[in-house]
Amino acid sequence: MRILEGKKGIVMGVANHHSIAWGIAKKLAEQGADLCFTYQGLPFLRRIEPLAKSINSNFILECDVLNNESIRNTFAQINKKWRSLDFVLHSIAFSDKNELKGKYIDSSRENFSKTMLISCFSFTEIAKEAYPLMTNGGSMVTLTYDGSQRPVPNYNVMGVAKAALESSVRYLAADLGERGIRVNSLSAGVMKTLAMAGISGGKNMMKWSEKNSLMKRNITLDEVGNSGLYLLSDLSSGVTGENHYVDCGYNKVSVPKET
Ligand code: NAD
Repeated sequence: MRILEGKKGIVMGVANHHSIAWGIAKKLAEQGADLCFTYQGLPFLRRIEPLAKSINSNFILECDVLNNESIRNTFAQINKKWRSLDFVLHSIAFSDKNELKGKYIDSSRENFSKTMLISCFSFTEIAKEAYPLMTNGGSMVTLTYDGSQRPVPNYNVMGVAKAALESSVRYLAADLGERGIRVNSLSAGVMKTLAMAGISGGKNMMKWSEKNSLMKRNITLDEVGNSGLYLLSDLSSGVTGENHYVDCGYNKVSVPKET
């Protein structure tokens, strides 16, 4: 028996086959879940269509989280087709790459607001639209990074947005817990993706964590996929309000070992 047989979920944030959301979606589909995919805008549709098809999904909706109407419309369409929902994966972030370099102190007001809206508040708005459909309880997961806890060069405003996102996970978990809806974040180690390419010195982040993580390597898409499966399924039925690290122990390093 596959653990997600008969379960329905929305996967938001697949840009291509390197995306963390795609790594998780494959694991969800292997376990029998029916998936709805959303994409940000037309250029992404070309990439997502064949991926969705490869795991027998043809339920694909456009959703730009900058636009509240677009979020509302997405969940209205899910309600129309499925009537109910079991899980939500939010794997979305954006900041102007000109501010993912240099100093945090130079952040602009405009990009601060936009980064917070897309990378943090969209999860709250999505949760608000999703929970009325989750009548049998369920699970919501968002993606974060350790730059929320410790300053990482060039991560800047995104670190601040991730800190707010992690806090919003705890508030949402408190709001929705009595309905049997769990809300958690997954703090992934660095991975080569489109979002990562926007961060100045991304290659250095990858090299540094490979050299210094407790396991002396970076994580794989398969591993983040398995952790996503755990949090989105009943395997984690007693877990909510948590930030779960899947980073080969990198967040536990204080002084790297001399080599
Ligand atoms: P990715 O580029 O594959 O995914 C980012 C997604 O965000 C894309 O699908 C993009 O379309 C979507 N997005 C951006 N703005 C949007 C908008 N206005 N409306 C709708 N969608 C929008 O990169 P990824 O690394 O898979 O990123 C997924 C999540 O994982 C992000 O939250 C990222 O911060 C987080 N994360 C990434 C790493 C890493 O090293 N790559 C590590 C930890 C956490």
